[in-house]
Order: sequence, then structure tokens, then C-alpha cells
Amino acid sequence: MDLFQLLSAELGPARVLRDELALERFAVDESGLPRFPPECAVLAESRAEIELVLRLAQEHRIAVTPRGAGTGMTGGALPVRGGIVLSTERMVRIREIDAENLIAVVEPGVTTGALQAEVEAAGLFYPPDPASLESCSLGGNVAENAGGPRAFKYGTTRDYVLGLEVVRMGGETLQLGRRTPKGVVGYDLVALMVGSEGTLAVATEIVLKLLPKPRAVATLLATFRDLLTAGAAVGTLVGRGHRPRALELLDRVTLEHLRGRTPYRFPDGAGAALLCELDGDPEGMEAQLLRCAESCEQSGAIEIQIAEDERRRRELWETRRRANPTLKALHRRKIPEDIVVPRAAIPEMLRRVDAVATQANLPCATYGHAGDGNLHINLLIDEPDSPELEARIERALDATMRATLELGGTLAGEHGVGLLKQRYLPWEQAPPVIQLQRQLKRLLDPEDLLNPGKIFP
Ligand SMILES: Cc1cc2nc3c(=O)[nH]c(=O)nc-3n(C[C@H](O)[C@H](O)[C@H](O)COP(=O)(O)OP(=O)(O)OC[C@H]3O[C@@H](n4cnc5c(N)ncnc54)[C@H](O)[C@@H]3O)c2cc1C
Repeated sequence: MDLFQLLSAELGPARVLRDELALERFAVDESGLPRFPPECAVLAESRAEIELVLRLAQEHRIAVTPRGAGTGMTGGALPVRGGIVLSTERMVRIREIDAENLIAVVEPGVTTGALQAEVEAAGLFYPPDPASLESCSLGGNVAENAGGPRAFKYGTTRDYVLGLEVVRMGGETLQLGRRTPKGVVGYDLVALMVGSEGTLAVATEIVLKLLPKPRAVATLLATFRDLLTAGAAVGTLVGRGHRPRALELLDRVTLEHLRGRTPYRFPDGAGAALLCELDGDPEGMEAQLLRCAESCEQSGAIEIQIAEDERRRRELWETRRRANPTLKALHRRKIPEDIVVPRAAIPEMLRRVDAVATQANLPCATYGHAGDGNLHINLLIDEPDSPELEARIERALDATMRATLELGGTLAGEHGVGLLKQRYLPWEQAPPVIQLQRQLKRLLDPEDLLNPGKIFP
């Protein structure tokens, strides 16, 4: 019996997919990269089954690529060497919500939105909020250290993972971390796993820190004539001591795409927008929001829309959330970048992005989590494919990465390296640092069978 027949005999053919059509959805993710079909996809339902797959795959020297919901933007879940896609989409149990100790224990396939709904119903709060939260999995969030708008005040997934149960290639299970808010016993292996893009081990259970749910939320959207003024307004707002939970920036090209397609109508002359959201206790919230509005006004806002009720708040967020799908739907190709610069460097970075796009003669839409300096820069391609176009895209991406590093930034804010950014890893990290990471990888997966071909060039 070959490996696939063995797995089929153990787990049943309904959960060991071999059919070309059934495998199609495991060949792609949201990166826009070409298809990489696996030879087999296993729909695991328990840790024991993941141990079995990783033990047998090791014995047969077959590559395994872990997969959550496949919403990754850099190709992390693509099985570049074929083999097995190990899907956690059926591991969707929320095992525990402990209000007294403020923790949740979940299986890796639980979607972020499902956990948030459940904890909020219990009066609690799980802050990480990737825009894909209705579909992405918590296992994928851990592997990518997912962020989102609320990272500005609350941090990213990393700040909420207390403990992890992981299975290594070969089938050994390790319990890492703890269930308590504090702890310093041995090396922080949880921190090593978070953001490791499924290359070190497969997460089978996640212990997450929760917070009490903020009692009030207040939101405003400020519109500016141009992007540089909006970018500078971010620094002014933060410099004055405001700490919104989200501070999101949209540029003119993004606004033009959203016009007429979202509930909020931008005024004429709008060249950029800032979405600002505060949370906390209701007392003093309105006064705080008005102070933020005043700061935006003094920075040059031409219109400020304050959400008076929950419906209006949802509409403003819907406007922001539609940015990515709208750009994607309206162009043949969208090449997304995800860089971070120090907040003070945002205006200079925006200036450089504009120059890069003009030089490459490619339309470009920029939006993102401005409070964190995390910008999503999207090249929009409608020209027919050609080697000349590819060279131009590459030059534009290279120039963007160079500008990011020159300004003291980092090349991936929340989407990871995956396949798309491997080329740039040595631009940011010195050879001994890359070598050390390769050694760690070899220690946990000596034959390079778990998610091979990712992160390292
Ligand atoms: C419209 C849209 C908006 C987005 N917005 C955001 C955003 O605001 N912030 C943000 O951070 N990201 C965002 N993303 C990117 C993406 O949703 C996140 O990276 C998400 O964390 C991926 O989760 P997933 O379950 O889809 O993972 P997948 O795409 O399935 O996998 C991603 C990586 O995780 C690994 N992996 C998955 N499960 C496990 C596991 N159990 N154990 C070990 N490794 C595993 C895979 O091998 C792969 O390397 C967005 C994507 C889309 C399409």
C-alpha cells in the first residue's frame, strides 16, 4: 500500500481526497500565485489524526503543507512540492471560554469571527481582527501572526497566544507555553511558533488570552484633499496622545474605486480618508472623539463624519473592508504589498510609493493600518501579460522594498514571507540570522518535509 492508500484505510476515503476536482481548491490561496495542486488532501478532525499523517508522511518522505482557510496572501498554504495538504477546516470546536481566567481554548480551524462572536456574547473580547475574519482560521492567524485594524491599540495575534499544542513532523506532540497570563519557564517556544508560517510544526490547540469587552466604541471618518495631508494627520493625532483602537488610511485611488459601491459617500475633492475608532468606558468617550475630530480638522480634514449609531458605524467599516475585494474585482491582477515603516515616516513612504508607481507607469492603490505604519500597497494591472510588464512590476516592487528598508521599516507587516517575498528576506536580515533560522528549521524538521519551499530563498 502507498501512503495515500494507508491514510485512506485509516481515516476513510471521504477525508483523504485524491480526486483532481476535489483537490482544485487546495491548489490556490489568496496570493494570486499560480496553482500548485497537491497529490492528496487530508481533512483532519483531531490531534491524533494529525500525528498519524505527520508520522506516516515522515516514514514515506512525503511533503506536508498545513492549511487553514486558504486566505493567506503570500502563498504559505500552497503545496509547492505536491504531497499532502493537511487541512484543519474540520477542527472547529471552541473547547473552552473561561471568563474568570480570561482565556479561550480552541481548535485551529475555528474562524476568527466565530471566536469573536462567542466571546463577545460572554461579555469578553478577542482583539485581533484581520479583515478576513469571517473566513480565516485561528491556526492560520497564529502561523502568520495576523494583525488587523485594532492592532494599533491591542497588538497582533502574538500578543494573545499563551499556549500551543503542536505536532512536529514525525508525529511528536509538544505542549508549549501556559494558561496563565504570566510565566517565564524556559525559552519562549510559543513566540517561535507564532509567525513561523507552518514550517516548524502544526498547531492543534491554541490557548488565547481574552480581555473584558470595552463598554463603548466611537468611530469617525475624516476626509482629506490628499494623501500626504492625511498621512501627516496620523502623526499629529498620535503625537497629541490619542490612542484610537484603529486608525485606517485610504488613498485617492482606493476612494475612487469605492465611490458608489459602499454605503458611505465621499465628498467631492476627497483625496484620502482616515477611519478612526476609539473604545473604552462610555464616560468621556464623546469628548475624546471630538478631540480626535478637532485634531483631524486642524490637520486639514475637509469633512468629518461621526457615526451616531451602530448602523452608521458598521457602514463606515464596510466602506473600509470593501477596499481589498473591490480593487480585486475591478482589475485583472492586483499585486498586494504589506510593508511597515515607522509612523513618522508614513508621509515620506507615501511620497516614494507615488514616485515608484509613476515611474513604473502602473496604477497603485494604497490603504492600511496607518496607526502601525502598516501600508498595503497594491499595483493594479490591466495590461496584457508580457515579459516587459513583469520586469516593470519587479522593478516597482524592488524599489518599494528598498524605500521601506531605507526608512527603517520591515518588509512584511502581517502577511508573512511565504513564497512571494523570499527574494527579499536577505535584504532585511543578515546571513547569520537567516542561517540560525535554517538551523532551527532543521532541528524540528531535519528532512525539510513540513511546508517546504517557504520563507527561505
Ligand atoms: C480579503 C482579505 C483580507 C485580509 N486581511 C488581513 C488583515 O487585515 N490582517 C492580516 O493579518 N491578514 C489579512 N489577510 C491575510 C490572511 O487572512 C491571514 O494571513 C490569515 O491569518 C490566514 O489564515 P488562513 O486560515 O486562511 O491560513 P492559510 O492561508 O490556510 O495558511 C496560511 C499559513 O498558515 C499555515 N497554517 C495554517 N494553519 C496552520 C496550523 N494549524 N498550524 C501550522 N500552520 C498553519 C499554512 O501552512 C500557511 O503557511 C487577509 C486576506 C484576505 C483574503
